[in-house]
Amino acid sequence: MKKKYSKKDLTEFKKLILKKKSDTVDQIKHMSEDTMKKSPKEAAGDISSYTYHMADIATDTYDREFTMSLASNDRALMYEIEEALKKITDGTYGVCEECKDLISKVRLKAIPYARLCLKCQEKKEK
Ligand SMILES: [Zn+2]
Repeated sequence: MKKKYSKKDLTEFKKLILKKKSDTVDQIKHMSEDTMKKSPKEAAGDISSYTYHMADIATDTYDREFTMSLASNDRALMYEIEEALKKITDGTYGVCEECKDLISKVRLKAIPYARLCLKCQEKKEK
């Protein structure tokens, strides 16, 4: 027998994923707003006028790299979320990609886009 979650469960998980998706979108928006609000001058603080310009450039580069790394994490997360939504449509959601066992509900509630069950995830991380 193929293991999978019932339609009713899938509907609940879908809600969780969509919630996670809108939270992520909000987070991305906040993050870019924060980056724009923070002026390089403020970040450079009380560095003397001689080094000021250099510090300005450095902070600016750092901020941009930081924002970009966050953005790529968020992009990865959005991808996982989209994949999870696709799986809900196919009815394969909640099935571990490794052992084909069901991923526990507790785990899916914590990480609604999980691809692996806890056992396989732990094995992979070792
Ligand atoms: Zn597994």
